[in-house]
Order: sequence, then structure tokens, then C-alpha cells
Amino acid sequence: MRPPRTHNKGVTITSLEAIPVRIPFKVPYKIATADQTARPYFDVVIVRLKTDDGAEGIGETQAWRRQGSVEDVRNLVNSIREYFAPIVVGRSPFDIAAIMNDLNKVLYQSLYAQAPVGDALYDLSGKLLGVPVSTLLGGKCRESIRQLACLSMQPDAKALVDLAEWYRARGFRHFEVKIGLDAEADVRNVQAVRERLGDEVSIQVDSNGGMTFDAALRLLKKLEPFGLKFAEQPVPIWDLDGLAALTAWGGIPIMADESVSTIQSLLEVVRRRAATSLQTKIGKNGGIHYIRQLWPLAQAAGIGIMPGNHPVTSIAAAATAHLCAAWPGPLIEGCFAENTAGEQADEIVEQPIVVKNGEVFVPDGPGFGMALDEAKIKRYRLDA
Ligand SMILES: [Mg+2]
Repeated sequence: MRPPRTHNKGVTITSLEAIPVRIPFKVPYKIATADQTARPYFDVVIVRLKTDDGAEGIGETQAWRRQGSVEDVRNLVNSIREYFAPIVVGRSPFDIAAIMNDLNKVLYQSLYAQAPVGDALYDLSGKLLGVPVSTLLGGKCRESIRQLACLSMQPDAKALVDLAEWYRARGFRHFEVKIGLDAEADVRNVQAVRERLGDEVSIQVDSNGGMTFDAALRLLKKLEPFGLKFAEQPVPIWDLDGLAALTAWGGIPIMADESVSTIQSLLEVVRRRAATSLQTKIGKNGGIHYIRQLWPLAQAAGIGIMPGNHPVTSIAAAATAHLCAAWPGPLIEGCFAENTAGEQADEIVEQPIVVKNGEVFVPDGPGFGMALDEAKIKRYRLDA
């Protein structure tokens, strides 16, 4: 019998950096958040691990404040530097499950902070073994994933339709319209997009938890004739009974987003039949390590899975692409590479993820197949 290959088993992590980065949008981005403003940029935190043999791994999380946010970019950097770095440094990058367990013990359910550390461990392990992360996760079941175009709120219906046309001309066939601040404008917007793009595209709406139950039911009834695929998180995070009542109403299928963070929160959605589909995100759900627990539970409960994301760079988009690649079951066209399709003014990796005709291609290189662009990091880091 041939002896097994050694696969760098003696490698040790020698440093963990938490790098806060601010990326500008080309055009300010607006959803139904508490501040109700259009934002000119988004903040992320990149974690970079280095080993004693010179290998590097990178992971990304979001610091996008919205309903349910308790952390901003500085809190996340502090949690990672102060509490996680001492746990990770000195360990083997292949001890992913044990390290994640230790992170959760020191800062319970700190999913946004844990995500970039776990994902950097996956990236590093893949790079050390010379295989893509999708191989570590069980092997590639697909080469690309269809992406949803997430339309930021616009000043009027014409501007929204123009934005939708910009995406359609580039191959997108799935659209999300943000709602929840002005019901009359929401109806006008959805109607305008449906009329211009026709019935061959799918449209879903998302209020990011921004409506009361009464307002949501009233608005969704008005939107029902437009043949929407989903209404995403119409009511706040905590209102699972409200989500369940909307699901029971049945006029538009209900997707849970903000209400699903931990595996326990998904279990509660399942118990109450609060949604028929869910959306996961790298930051919100704690990265690959935890999302891999959510999808099988959703599948077992008959809940559709949409890979989503907050506004991200190509690093978190690639992490999600590898997760999708290794998932053999069906997936709903998602916004998991949100803002990598030309909406952000710049990228922080050498070769951004490839988005073509509304499809995101799974990178081929080892790990996530991404390398940081040092000049860009220098330019956009917040603590430089
Ligand atoms: Mg959403």
C-alpha cells in the first residue's frame, strides 16, 4: 500500500490580522434600514492568517448596519483581535471544527465575528492542500450559480426600471425590488419593473424586516397580482408569528432572512412554519462552518435555500460560490455576490470573481482562488 501524502500537517498559524476596509459604491445604495439613507460605501473586515511556512488564508465579514445589527466595524475588529487571535495563533489550520468551537465559547454566537476566521481557515487549508475549498466541502456539483440582481431603492420608478434594464442587458433574469419605506411607491415600482421586463423574469421583494404585520399584509395583498416569486422578511426579526401568518395567507411565498441567524433560529422557523424558504449570508450566519449546518436542516424541512450576502467583495462571494458548488441539492438564484457585478467602485483582490450573463463562476484556484491586492488594501483600509 502506498503511504498517505503528508499534506503539510505540521503547519502552524503564526499570525491573525483583522483588516477593516471601506469600499465605495459607484452609486449610493439604499434599503429599508433604520437610518433610511442611501449609503456611499460599505464596510467589511478581512481576516488574514499566516503560517510558519509562508502560506496565507483570507476570509471576509460584513459590518453593514441594519435591523438587528449590534456591531459595527470597530466592534468586529476588536472581537477578532482581542479574543480570537490568541485562540487561533499556534494552532493547525486544519483544526477548523475545534477552533470554531473555541471561538463560540469565548464570544457566544458572535457569528459576524466568527465568519471571517472560519472562512480564512478553509481558504488556508485549501491553499496548503492545493485544492479549491469546494473540494474540501465534498467536491464540485456545479460550475456556476445564477445570480439575482438586487435593485437598491431609487428616487423614482423610472430610475429603478433603468437599473433593472442595466442588469438585464448583462444577462440577469432574477430581480429583487427593495420595499418597506413607502407602500404607494413600492406598488408603482414593482408594477413598473414587471411591465418593462415582462413575465419571463422573476421578481421578489424585500423589506429587510422594515414593516409592521398590518402594513406588510396590506402591501403584499396589493403586490400579489404581479406574480412575485418571494416576499423576503416582510416583518421584523422577532416576529416569527407574523411571518407564519403571512406564510399561512399564502398570496406570495415568504422567505426568512434576518430571522435566521443561528441553527436554533432556523429550527424555530421550521417549528412554526414561519417561511417556505430562507436566505443565508456569510456574515449573518457565521461563514461556511455554520451555513453548512443550516442548509441540510432547511432541506430536511422542505424549506428552499437561497444563497445570499450583504454587500461583499469577491472574497465572501467566492466563499459562497464554493459552498454552492459543493451543494448537490437545488438552490434558489441568490444575491450572494451582491455588488461584485459592477456596483462597487473597486475590488480588493487581484482577480475578482467572474460574473457573466447573470451567472457567477466558481473560482478554480486553491482555497477560495482569491489573493488580496496589497495596494488596494492599503488604499481602502480604515485604520491605515
Ligand atoms: Mg434580505
